[in-house]
Amino acid sequence: DQEMARQSERVIRTLNEHGYEAYWVGGCVRDELLGRAVDDMDITSSASPEQVMQLFEDCIPTGLQHGTVTVRSGGYYFEVTTFRTESEYKDNRRPSAVHFVKDIKEDLQRRDFTMNALAMDSDGNIVDPFGGQIDIRAERVRCVGEAKARFGEDALRILRCVRFASVFHFSIAYNTWKGLLLQRDLLKHIAMERVRTEMVKMMAGSQPLAGMELLLRSRILEEVKAPVDAKRFNRTLLMNLEELKGEHVILRWALLLLAGNYSKDEADTLLRQWTFSNDERTRMTGVLQVEAMTSSIVQENKPVEALREEWIQAVLVCGIRATQDWLMIQSILPAAWRELPISMEDQFNYIQAHASEWSQSMQVQELKDLNITGEAILGLLGRKGGPWLGQLMKHLLRETAIGNIANQSEALSAEVKRVGAIDQA
Ligand code: ATP
Ligand code: MG
Repeated sequence: DQEMARQSERVIRTLNEHGYEAYWVGGCVRDELLGRAVDDMDITSSASPEQVMQLFEDCIPTGLQHGTVTVRSGGYYFEVTTFRTESEYKDNRRPSAVHFVKDIKEDLQRRDFTMNALAMDSDGNIVDPFGGQIDIRAERVRCVGEAKARFGEDALRILRCVRFASVFHFSIAYNTWKGLLLQRDLLKHIAMERVRTEMVKMMAGSQPLAGMELLLRSRILEEVKAPVDAKRFNRTLLMNLEELKGEHVILRWALLLLAGNYSKDEADTLLRQWTFSNDERTRMTGVLQVEAMTSSIVQENKPVEALREEWIQAVLVCGIRATQDWLMIQSILPAAWRELPISMEDQFNYIQAHASEWSQSMQVQELKDLNITGEAILGLLGRKGGPWLGQLMKHLLRETAIGNIANQSEALSAEVKRVGAIDQA
């Protein structure tokens, strides 16, 4: 974003004009060197938070105790943080105290990886005391300083390490990897929300498979608060994660659960512990529900003519979104991944080949699509409401979806009266 770069440069130059050092720092310098899109530009400066606030009219004291002031320039927000070190890490999480320092190099020393310990001034000169540029060229994640100690200070760095290696497709320096393995049990101190954030970034990247491989090898997932047994994942399915691209990236989570052979309920419990939102949980477990329903249809060995009705029933129970998601995932998986006997395989293939057409043939997908209301039904039959009403409406929905009844109030009323008459008898 050219304009964001211009506005941040203005902030840096203003600080310089008043005698302070100021640099772009961390992720934005790294991403620039990697030729990747930069989404936010952080600034570090020798000016104290008070001095920054005096210089800029439009600013918010976002984290004064950490030395951070957010400066607004031309509609963009920039975090300006005073050079600082950190000390006394509590419970292997955030530091309990920070100290402001005079030298940019001391600030860079507190940062996690060499590629993140880079600063650039307004003339484009790069400050790189730990060989970050060499590591970027060598495509390698390396801790600043002694790896075991750095992971010990803040165990979230363990996940950041794997995430960066995965998203950039970098290797991990030998000592860094060794330090990570020595400290992985500290992950139990990290809040699941932060674990999830790292995992979501990793899974949305271009190489989630490389990340999964690292997670399996390091057994990191077994050490988090809500642990996952990585051994249960089916490798053949994992191999296809990267085939889900663009808007379908979110479905990688559903594929992951499928690869772990999770039932809908198991998955729901796990996703809850991992602090996923209700919407996210519904989306991911919906696919598992469709998989379970179609599997049981296939096991019953129904005649081919019956498969359409069974599919329509699955759409009504699981919702159209879940069935579309399931089909999307099937389409990127290799044929016969379930390793079923041929007769069942054939049924799955038949369902897959016709499902879209069957879904499109449905006049109704939910109760609210029916051209008759519960009240109208009560009136027609002269009865009081009760559980029977819900059952009757489900019957109408199914018959209409299959196409046995037209979705018109006359046809629906006739069916209500017919069923009502049978009930009376
Ligand atoms: P991205 O924004 O792509 O997730 P990033 O490296 O910019 O990656 P941020 O969380 O935005 O990550 O942090 C900005 C910078 O702050 C990092 O580049 C790094 O220098 C430093 N940093 C962030 N988290 C840590 C940490 N846990 N330990 C040490 N330094 C960190
Ligand atoms: Mg960042």
